[in-house]
Amino acid sequence: MGGSAAEQATAREQAGWWELYANLKFDFGNAPDADIRITFDTNDGAWSTVGTDARQVPSNQATMNLGFLDGGTAGHEFGHAVGLAHEHSSPAGGIQWNEPVVLAALAGPPNFWGPAMVEHNVFRKYSLDQINGTTFDPDSIMLYAFPAQWTLNGVGTHANDVLSSLDKAFVAGAKMYPKTGPGPSKATPLNVGAPRTKANIGRAGEEDLFQFTADEDGVYQIDTRGKTDIYMKLFGPNSETALMDEDDDSGYGLNPRISARLLAGNYFVQIRHHDRTSGTGEYTIGIKQH
Ligand SMILES: [Zn+2]
Repeated sequence: MGGSAAEQATAREQAGWWELYANLKFDFGNAPDADIRITFDTNDGAWSTVGTDARQVPSNQATMNLGFLDGGTAGHEFGHAVGLAHEHSSPAGGIQWNEPVVLAALAGPPNFWGPAMVEHNVFRKYSLDQINGTTFDPDSIMLYAFPAQWTLNGVGTHANDVLSSLDKAFVAGAKMYPKTGPGPSKATPLNVGAPRTKANIGRAGEEDLFQFTADEDGVYQIDTRGKTDIYMKLFGPNSETALMDEDDDSGYGLNPRISARLLAGNYFVQIRHHDRTSGTGEYTIGIKQH
């Protein structure tokens, strides 16, 4: 419902962030009975109805407004459209509000929110039986950035303009939009917490593929050791093609290390020889749960 070609392209692109992981396909067009109807009214902020609440909106009205498109705003609003609430409304949420400070800050420009509005948008938390969710995710795109002064313990939140590893894992998980499991794979199985597995880059540019199962939700660390300069990519959950994270040399020496919050599921690790001019040889790979 309006928008320039560039604004529409941004909305389409950031909606695609969810499509990569969730078993969802958005069909963009001008259908008058579309489930999601987007306006680009610069005087109306950025908001979206949550999930199937969109069906309660009269068909001549928008279900989402993208009045600004900074950072990952469209990705955040599409998160609402596929059923995600704000991370700070999580009953598992760890934010301890300094309520008088927050009320005073939001009473002024640009929000001009009264106490009821602040209660609804910021303080309110769902009860456990109202939602399906994860542990509190400080990196979720569904979390606002809050200054440290707004909390009693002086711990604020940072701006999140991309999907977090837990955002990706959750929408791909059994409670949301799981894809069918991966087909037969040539990946070498790895076990979490097992002794490190020896592998070898035999020729320049070679790639190795590994697979592991996270039996429970948690933070997992995957790293390699050795003198070979390699690059790591993590795919999943339950997909060999949905990229969750990548790393060059956060580990020892030139080795990659990825630490990610994961939901239970199957994950794939691609190890690639990083620099065709550098040496080949052995390395080891290991996974542990924190
Ligand atoms: Zn929101």
